[in-house]
Amino acid sequence: MAFLNELDSKRLLAEEGFEVTMPEVVSNLEEAKRAAERIGYPVVVKVFSNRIVHKSDVGGVVVGIEDEAALKRSYSEVLLRAREIDPEAKVCIQKCVPKGVELVVGIHTDESFGKVMMFGIGGVFVELLKDVSFRLVPIGEEDAVEMIEEIKAKALLDGFRGLPAVDKGALSRFLVKVSDVAQGKGIVQMDLNPVIAYGDRFVVVDARVLL
Ligand code: ADP
Ligand code: MG
Repeated sequence: MAFLNELDSKRLLAEEGFEVTMPEVVSNLEEAKRAAERIGYPVVVKVFSNRIVHKSDVGGVVVGIEDEAALKRSYSEVLLRAREIDPEAKVCIQKCVPKGVELVVGIHTDESFGKVMMFGIGGVFVELLKDVSFRLVPIGEEDAVEMIEEIKAKALLDGFRGLPAVDKGALSRFLVKVSDVAQGKGIVQMDLNPVIAYGDRFVVVDARVLL
């Protein structure tokens, strides 16, 4: 079993029809600049390393990079911090998507129950808030609706502080689709955190898949 890195995890998801922010792995600042030009500002600089799982905990994620000067600063900062942990760490560039409601969707394989799906409010505070619901895979749309209703902070989905409301029908179908994908391809674990919601659109900005 092996965890796919962010790039390969997102490739798998993109092949299944999910919208992702595809990272471009770069080896130096010139490549970083070219990647950012291609992708279009604003971009995100992220550490790319098999040994760093919680990237933002080590200062390995800089969002909202608007120009080349900021890119240059962030590139060096992220690389410097990352190399202290993993001398082979690289950096990747991806599109920075606007603020939206951050969701978490996870799949893990339980020894006695089999595949289990988790859904909740996502982002970097997931472990702290523990506001999530679980169902056995495969789920249907009714299960998905229940999973959404079970979240304590579900009011966040109705439009909060100017963020667009999340279309719950579309979210249910999104969860069913993750469940369908999780059933195949020898998938053992999937961490999609966060998936950023814009109404009926869901963009996976961080992903880690275990095959
Ligand atoms: P980790 O979970 O390893 O700390 P993430 O890739 O999830 O790292 O990034 C941390 C946070 O940065 C996310 O929760 C999200 O708020 C933000 N973020 C990450 N990638 C993007 C992106 N492409 N666009 C906008 N925000 C992002
Ligand atoms: Mg994450």
